[in-house]
Formats: sequence, C-alpha cells, structure tokens
Amino acid sequence: MNSKVPPDLSRMNRAVFEALDHDQLVELTCRLHAVATDLAERLAMNSTNSSRPPSSDPPFGKGGAVAAGSGGAGGAGVTAGGAGNPTPPVPSRKPPQPSGRKPGKQPGAKGKWRDEPLKAERTERLWPCTCDGCGMPLEMWDKEVRTGAAFPVLELERTPGGIRIACVEHRYQVVLCTCGHETEARPGVGVLSFLDGRKRQLHLTERCMVAPSLAAFIAALHIRHHQSRRKIREFLLTWMGVPLSVGSIDRCIREVGVACEPIVQDLLEEVRAAGIIHADETPWYQGVLNCWLWVVLTATTAVFHIGSRRHEEIRDLLGDAIIGWLVTDGYGAYRDYERRQRCLAHLIRKGLALAGGLSPDGVQFGEWLVRELRGLIHAVAEDQGHTILNPIQARMKRACKLHRDHETEKIRALAREILNDWAAIVAFVRNPYLPATNNEAERALRIAVIARRLSFGTRNEEGSAAYAASLSVVETCRRRHVDPWSYIAETLGRARAGFMHNPIPAAA
Ligand SMILES: [Zn+2]
Repeated sequence: MNSKVPPDLSRMNRAVFEALDHDQLVELTCRLHAVATDLAERLAMNSTNSSRPPSSDPPFGKGGAVAAGSGGAGGAGVTAGGAGNPTPPVPSRKPPQPSGRKPGKQPGAKGKWRDEPLKAERTERLWPCTCDGCGMPLEMWDKEVRTGAAFPVLELERTPGGIRIACVEHRYQVVLCTCGHETEARPGVGVLSFLDGRKRQLHLTERCMVAPSLAAFIAALHIRHHQSRRKIREFLLTWMGVPLSVGSIDRCIREVGVACEPIVQDLLEEVRAAGIIHADETPWYQGVLNCWLWVVLTATTAVFHIGSRRHEEIRDLLGDAIIGWLVTDGYGAYRDYERRQRCLAHLIRKGLALAGGLSPDGVQFGEWLVRELRGLIHAVAEDQGHTILNPIQARMKRACKLHRDHETEKIRALAREILNDWAAIVAFVRNPYLPATNNEAERALRIAVIARRLSFGTRNEEGSAAYAASLSVVETCRRRHVDPWSYIAETLGRARAGFMHNPIPAAA
C-alpha cells in the first residue's frame, strides 16, 4: 500500500469495515490514524508554529484550550495529541499574562507636547448674544471692550481643488451693553461622557483645538477607511503638515461617537416602523468580553448595537410589537418573531457543503436541495403561478421528511432545520416583495467585521456605544444619499455647544 495516497473516505461505511479481515483492518486503521494526525496538526496551526500570519490567530483565549465562545468566528486552537499519542504535541502559545498596567501613557513617563505654538493664519471673532445683566439682546453697535478667551482652532476647509487645514484663532469678545454691564462670549459646553475609573472624563466643549470639520475627517479615516490612530497621526503630519497627538485623534473619534449616540434612538424608532427589517449579528470583543455586534436595517435606516449574546438582546432592540417582516439567518434569537423570512443563501451554502462532502447520501440530498431552492427563488422572481410553486415546496418538504432520521448527523440536522423553520423559509412565496436572502444585512456588517479583524474590537462600554452609534449614522446617511461627514461635523458642532441634533434628512 502506498501511504501517500489518501484513503477514499467516500467509499467507507460500516458494511465495508465489517467485511475486512484483521490485517486489513489494522492497515486501514493506521492509514486513517495518519490522516487524523495530519488534520489535527493542521487544525492546531497558528502564527507561532506555522507561516500563518498573526492576524489569523483568534484574538482571545490563544493557545491550547478552545477559546470560550469563539462562536463561529473561525474556531480557535485545538490541541493535537491526547494520552498515548506517539506524535509530539503541537506547541501552543501560552495566553499572555496581564501586566496589570493600563493602556496608554504610564504614570511618571515623560509626556509629549508641542514645541512651538500653532500660528493662526486669520482670526474669527465671536460675540455674546444677550446681556448677562439685563437679559436684552446685544446689538451690532454695542461697544466691544476687549477680547476674553482666545485660542487656535484647526479647521478643515473644502476648496475647489480638494481640502486644506487652516489654523484660525477664535476670539471670544467682551461687549458693553447700554445698561453698563460687560458680557463675555464663552465657548459652549456639551455633554459629559463619564466612565468609572478614568482620570480625565470626556467633556464635549467648543474650547477644543480640533474643529468639528477636522474631527469628522479624522472619524472618517478611522471608521470608514480603517486607519489606526497612529496612521492618522502620520497621515496628517506628512500630507497636511498638521501635528496632532494620538490622544487628540482618539478624542475626536470618541467625541463623534458620543455626539451620534442621541440620534440612534430616532433611527431605532424608524426601523421599528418599517415594513421589512433585516437583522444580523457577528461576534465582537469588548475588552475581554465576548459580545455580539447586532445590526437591524431597512432600505433607508441602519442601527448597529454592541451588546450581549443573550437572545433577549434583539427583543430589547426591536421591541415586541414590530409590524413588519423580519429577514434573518437561522440564529435562534429571531425565532420568536412570527412574521419572518429566513435567508435562503445560508441554506444553499449548507446544501453546497453537503454536496461537496464525503457521504453519498449527503451529496445527493445537498445537490438536490440546492437545485430546488434556486428553482424556487427563480420561480418567485419570475412571478410563476401556484402550479409551479406548490410542487417545488411539496417536493422539498417530502425530501426533508425522508432525511430527518438519516444516520449521518449533518444530513439529519439540515433536514430537521428546514422542517422546523418551514414557515419562515417559504414566507417569500406568498409575499413576493420579501427578499429571499439576508445579503443586505450581511453587506452592512462587512465594515464591522473588517474593523474587528484589524482592531480586535472595543475596550469598554463607551467605546462600543460610540462605535456602534457612528456606524449607524454613517450607514444611514449613505442609504439616504446624504454626505455623512458634513452631517457629522454639523452634529458634533451642535453637541459641543450643548444643542440638540438635527435629524438626518430623508432620502433624496
Ligand atoms: Zn444689559
């Protein structure tokens, strides 16, 4: 026997094994053992013991044990070799011990600061509106006594040829009212985002070196274009000649998130009232917590939410009384909703996996199921009558019933899954305006999945809420053909001054 040729697994079953004599069985067992060892070693590969990149490693629970709740995000390391296994165990990386230090600058470390002050290219004067003394509105002709606060602000300007960053000195003027009282204009103050145990809380205020226009640009580079804070710093310094610290850039990204948060509640109301709602979820890491990032979206509105993996999370998000249809994958959290369309692309993929498998029954059932599902989608799309649609559904149901007690687990599981969720799978036949797939939600989640792979998630609740709110606003604006960054700049400006946000304009 040539041990290089892999054994043909598709030809093996219980009857074949029972027909073999002792020597043949030993030989076969050895070859199967070799295959199993090879597969186990391949499963245990990671960046420390193979040429795989570190980005392919699971972010948490590295090393030996299977990561707790790695929930579909590319299963984690599996140990090879148990007791009595002659092959050496594949070395696994030890989970890093937490140093106990907080991220960022350490106490006592030398700080960094600007060597020379920013040079303003022009000044902008700001006046108080009403008199603090008598409450009357101040007029153009009231006398300016002096300048109170003054500080440089970096503003992003759009020019016909592109963009530039201008340094403008904001001067807050003191005005003398006719009543004799002097009133000083002051930078506006917005909300305080409080996080327990943080030395310096995030306070939105107009007394800030980065104007809302530049903050929105920085947020765009981070959220939409996946640039890290350090890369943004390098970009601004190299291409725009603007020295900003990583801390200032981080602050801008957080401020945008905090300013976007109140908008999410409005968006959620709009989603709940829609006729068709897509919902999906993907794993997300918040510090060491394993969370889900949920998305619910309609044609013109999207809401992202980072929360627990509890089934109730979607109910908390959408509420009990949605009037529309929910389009989802097969995840159990959505099963309580009656008016639901199940994503058929997921089932087709499962069918294709069976069709490409080793079990002959599975190949047959998988190929057949894929053909019927695709046929059903086409028939509905072409508006065929019941004489075509009903037989397809009847054939599918009958085949699933035939396979629901099959000896192979995967076949059995798929057949039962289809039968258990039958109403949701064929809902689009009676309601042809329903989409047969959940691609809309999956596409919207892509940006977050890429961000997760690059950044390993968020660190705390503030970061999660801010990131989800920013994503919601950006995606909603894109769906409504509104420039998200102008809207975000305007919203941040209002939030820093302590004003309510304006709603996102309706689709043009
Ligand atoms: Zn007055």
